[in-house]
Amino acid sequence: MKNKSLWLQNTDNSSYKKLTKNIKCDILIIGGGMTGMSTAYHLRNSNLKICLVDRDLVGHGITSKTTGKLNYLQELIFYKIDKYVSKEAAKIYLDSQIEAINIVEEIVNREQIDCNFEKVPSFLFTNKKNEIKKIQKQKELLESCGIKVNEHKNIPININCKYAISVDDTAVFHPLKYLSYLKDICIKKDINIYEKTKITAINKDKNNYICKTNKNTIIANKIVVASHYPYFLLPFFMPAKTSIEKSYVSASKIEEIKYFTAITSNNPVKSIRYHSDIKNNYLIYLNGTHKTCNNYDEKINFDKLKRDLKKLKIEPQYIWSNHDIMTYDYLPFIGRIEKNDSSFLIGTGYNTWGMTNGSLAGVIISDIILQNQNKYEKLFDPRRSINTSKILKYPLYLGANVKAFIETKINKNKSWYKGNVEFRKIDGENIAIYTSEKNIKHVVYNTCPHLKCSLIFNEIEKTWDCPCHGSRFDIDGHVISGPANYDIKYKKEL
Ligand SMILES: Cc1cc2nc3c(=O)[nH]c(=O)nc-3n(C[C@H](O)[C@H](O)[C@H](O)COP(=O)(O)OP(=O)(O)OC[C@H]3O[C@@H](n4cnc5c(N)ncnc54)[C@H](O)[C@@H]3O)c2cc1C
Repeated sequence: MKNKSLWLQNTDNSSYKKLTKNIKCDILIIGGGMTGMSTAYHLRNSNLKICLVDRDLVGHGITSKTTGKLNYLQELIFYKIDKYVSKEAAKIYLDSQIEAINIVEEIVNREQIDCNFEKVPSFLFTNKKNEIKKIQKQKELLESCGIKVNEHKNIPININCKYAISVDDTAVFHPLKYLSYLKDICIKKDINIYEKTKITAINKDKNNYICKTNKNTIIANKIVVASHYPYFLLPFFMPAKTSIEKSYVSASKIEEIKYFTAITSNNPVKSIRYHSDIKNNYLIYLNGTHKTCNNYDEKINFDKLKRDLKKLKIEPQYIWSNHDIMTYDYLPFIGRIEKNDSSFLIGTGYNTWGMTNGSLAGVIISDIILQNQNKYEKLFDPRRSINTSKILKYPLYLGANVKAFIETKINKNKSWYKGNVEFRKIDGENIAIYTSEKNIKHVVYNTCPHLKCSLIFNEIEKTWDCPCHGSRFDIDGHVISGPANYDIKYKKEL
C-alpha cells in the first residue's frame, strides 16, 4: 500500500523550469493548481506578459489529492446557502457550478485533452432519518431552478442508505492529466511557467508588485494569489473568515467500475467515485471529514477509513489525506482584495469543491484582469462581510483552535508515538525529531511558522501537521501546504 494519492502515480516529475534570473511581467500568477492553471489558460490569448510560479510542480498541491469530481450536487450546500445567505445566492451558486462543469467539458473537447473526463450521474444520500427532510428541501430548490432530480431508496453500491437523490450532467476526470495539458497549452502560448520556485515575500511600490523568490525578484503589474491559502494578506484575514477541513481518501483495485459518484449529506462524510487507468479499475473512497483542530490523531482517522473498506471487502492500494479551506457562508472567495483595484486578486475558500470553483476562478479572475463583466464577481467577492453570528459553529471552531494550540504546546499527544518521535528544547528552541525505521533522524523546528502552534507527527503519511490551521511539512520540514509558507527544517547539528 502506498501512502500517497492515486493521481501522483506515473507522473513525470523530471521536466520543469526553475526561475534563475530577475524578470518583469504584467501578471504574476502564484500557484499552479486548478485555480492558477485555469487563470493562466483563460489569459493565454491576451497580449499580456504572463508568468506563473509554483513552489512545487504544477498540480502537486491540494489538487493532487482531490477526488476529482466535477459535481454540482455538493452535499447540502444549496440548502445551507439558502438558510444562511439567501435563496437568490443559492440559485446563483448553482448556476456557477453548472457553468464550471461546462467550462471544463468545453476545454476538454476544444483542446482534445485525454484526462478520463466522463459524464456520470451524482447521488446525494443519507443513512440518517433526520437528514431526509434537508435533502428533500434541497431537491425542491434544485427543481425550482429547472434541474431534473431523481429520488432513490438506495445508491448503486452496498452502503447503508435511507434516502438518496441524483442528478445528471455531472462528471469525473483525472485532475493532474487535465492540468498537465493546460500547462503545455500555456507554454505554447508563451506563458512562462517556473516550478520549484517559491514566492517568499511581496512588496509594493507605486506601480508594481515586487515579489521575492529565494534568489530572484519578479516585478509584476498585477498578481493573482492562487496558492490555495492566500498568504501575503493580513495574517488574521483568513483565520477569522475560514476554517480548514481535513479528509481521508483511499483508492482500491476492483474488478469492474460503475458510472456514478455519490456523497453523504451528513457526517461522517463518505464520498465515492470510480476511475480506470490502462491497467486497473479503482474505487476511490473518502471517509471522514473534520476540522484540523479536532480529532488530529491520524492513526485513528485512517483506521476508520480502513474499517469501512473492510466492510466493502476491498483492500486499499493508496491512502492519503487532504484538506481544504471552508468559508462560513459556503461561498468561495474569488476576486479583488481592494475595492476597484484589480491588481491583487485571489481565488480560494472552495469548501472542498475546488475542481468547479477553481475552474470558475480562472474565468472570473481573467475577466477582472481583462475588464470584462462577470456575473459571479459580486457574490464571490472576498471583501463581503459574513454574518458569523448566524453561524453558531464559529465560536466553537475558535475554541477548538485554542484547545489544539494548548494541547500541542503541553504535548498532550506524547503517548501516540512509539518512541520514534521525540520533542526537545535546544538553545531555547523547540525541536521535534522523527527517527525512521532505517535509524535516520529527521529534525525540524516544532513551531508552525504561521501562528506558532506546535506540530504533530502524522505517522501514516510521514508528515508534520499543524492541528490549528492545517499547515503540513514533509518529513524534513519542507512546507507542502499552507497556511505556512516557510520550511521548518532544523539545519544545525544535533
Ligand atoms: C479530500 C478532498 C477531496 C476533494 N475532492 C474534490 C472533488 O471531488 N471535487 C472538487 O470540486 N473539489 C474537491 N476538493 C477540493 C479541491 O481539491 C481544492 O479546492 C482544489 O484542489 C484547490 O485548488 P487550488 O488551485 O486552489 O490549490 P492547489 O492545488 O493547492 O494549488 C496551489 C498551488 O500553489 C503553490 N504554492 C503555494 N504557495 C506558494 C508560494 N509561496 N509560491 C509559489 N507557489 C506556491 C502550491 O505548490 C500549489 O501547487 C477536495 C478537497 C479535499 C480536501
